[in-house]
Amino acid sequence: MHDIEVIASAAALVLLAILGRGLYVFIWPYRECRWCRNQHRRRGRRCWRCKGTRLTRRWGAWHAHKIKDSLVRAWQERGAD
Ligand SMILES: [Zn+2]
Repeated sequence: MHDIEVIASAAALVLLAILGRGLYVFIWPYRECRWCRNQHRRRGRRCWRCKGTRLTRRWGAWHAHKIKDSLVRAWQERGAD
């Protein structure tokens, strides 16, 4: 009867991976724009993806900030009580 333990540790690992990823994109939400590299021929035109900043948000960064905001709000509401 080790099935539950295996599932539990697998779930814990998945959760840890999600949390790790969330923390990673939260601390480093931006990366170098991939689309700029592909636009060497069309010099002078602004990149549609990063709008010339050469930085784009990592996938999940928006969600990580959204979750953080809701956690902060939950904490503040709890503290005000
Ligand atoms: Zn770009």
